[in-house]
Amino acid sequence: MSPTRYIFVTGGVTSSLGKGIISSSIAKLLVARGFSVTIQKLDPYINIDPGTLNPYEHGECFVTDDGAETDLDLGHYERFSNVPTSQANNVTTGVIYQSVITKERKGEFLGETVQVIPHITDEIKYRIKLLAKRKPYDFIITEIGGTVGDIESLPFIEAVRQLRWELGKNCVVVHLTLVPYLAAAGELKTKPTQHSVKTLLESGVQPDIIVCRCDKHITEGIRHKIALFCNVAPTSVIECIDVETIYDVPIQMRQENLDVEILRKTDMPTETKPDLTDWEQFLFAMKHPAGEVNIGLVGKYVELKDAYKSINESFIHAGTMNGVRVRIQTFHSEFINDTNVEEKLGNLDGVLVAPGFGERGIEGKITAIRFVREKGIPFFGICLGMQCAVIEFGRNVLGLKGAHSTEFDRSTPYPVIDMMEMQKKISGLGGTMRLGSYPCRLVPGSKVTTIYKTENIQERHRHRFEFNNEYLEKYTAAGMVPVGINEKDNLVEIIEIPDHPWFVGVQFHPEFKSTVAQPHPLFVSFVKAAKDYAGR
Ligand code: GLN
Repeated sequence: MSPTRYIFVTGGVTSSLGKGIISSSIAKLLVARGFSVTIQKLDPYINIDPGTLNPYEHGECFVTDDGAETDLDLGHYERFSNVPTSQANNVTTGVIYQSVITKERKGEFLGETVQVIPHITDEIKYRIKLLAKRKPYDFIITEIGGTVGDIESLPFIEAVRQLRWELGKNCVVVHLTLVPYLAAAGELKTKPTQHSVKTLLESGVQPDIIVCRCDKHITEGIRHKIALFCNVAPTSVIECIDVETIYDVPIQMRQENLDVEILRKTDMPTETKPDLTDWEQFLFAMKHPAGEVNIGLVGKYVELKDAYKSINESFIHAGTMNGVRVRIQTFHSEFINDTNVEEKLGNLDGVLVAPGFGERGIEGKITAIRFVREKGIPFFGICLGMQCAVIEFGRNVLGLKGAHSTEFDRSTPYPVIDMMEMQKKISGLGGTMRLGSYPCRLVPGSKVTTIYKTENIQERHRHRFEFNNEYLEKYTAAGMVPVGINEKDNLVEIIEIPDHPWFVGVQFHPEFKSTVAQPHPLFVSFVKAAKDYAGR
């Protein structure tokens, strides 16, 4: 078996250029050639993980099977490559320092002065290589968060410098930069890229490949200029022009030969062609929908582009499977009330109530759910969305006045959603929820069993509260039925209303498991129900 090759992806000039999408596209192309690949993200912030960050900081918090709360880029990695990630795939400065300081306290450094170099950089290098120790990968792609030149990412860049030296041919550095078009000059400008590469060179890292994000085609002249000033071959200057969708990027990178450049530089075979047939079919179907459905997304972070990233992407996968474009209309739950709910949601083909924490906007979610339950509009509740459906049903169908979740009202007379027993003894916030993949058994004959085509599923969780089993019989008798149970801990994981066209609430997060290769069955079925509702 040949040694693992390491691909580092750095970014320059500005943030938000799409390092995550480039890394994911590289992974996709290498997987499509039959290589085993994993991707990790190194984040320069001091939080141990993004689990305690609010969505205003870095958008959605993505959850892995093994229960890591991670950067949303890991969602892209999984959606593109269809390879699950894990705790080890997201490392922050916080994790690095915590580990080094713990070792220092145990006396493991035998009296040495503990320093950024070599102790912090050794720890970073250890974390980068850790993935290969667990499984023999052909390639490990490491995306370095932040922009070169940032003070906080310096130790990561230094670790890359050292690894390049140690790994020789088994390492390649891909640097993503911006080549802006200046309308007044009528030209693409290479200077920001030159400066960005110089900044990287100041840290001792010569990039092997430069990927140029641009909104106009890079001419041969520009390509040669960048090559000349940045010490790379013209074939290593890759154009990455704005495209219609992020799912175009692997195809675009294939056309630009990014995969071939990487293989050549790491002495890997280039003869085999990547098999992108399924991907191309997906893209074609996505771009040629036969119709459209309108789905309302009700949440309290709807103004943030990245807050519900995985839900948005799951709808793209599910819409494509159904041959329709899903038009997502967002509704801020704080502004939904009895007076305006009909006007806001009345024309929709389906409504999804989003996951979340905290009381803000809860009553709007409950009002929205009552409306769609009574109107027979397809409803999908995820995590807090399911909990709100239980509260709504308790209040308006069972007549439990003041029913609530104890997350929002500790002294509610009807705590239909309550904190899980296992959560009651926990005090700290970081990494302490019920996290990651748990088994769930589906009730034979239920809608979800037909949807999943199996009675045993595994889904990812991130919550502290749950359906209160004391109310189980009342709910079942009135028509809101528990149809998915975690048998070990006796937790209700899914509820549905069989009398409704499509009313499903799930305590877990199906959106974290939807990929291009395997769109999530619940999303696919929900979009189908919306399509049926639209054509009724
Ligand atoms: N706040 C709820 C809980 O902790 C729901 C969490 C979520 O939607 N992810 O149980």
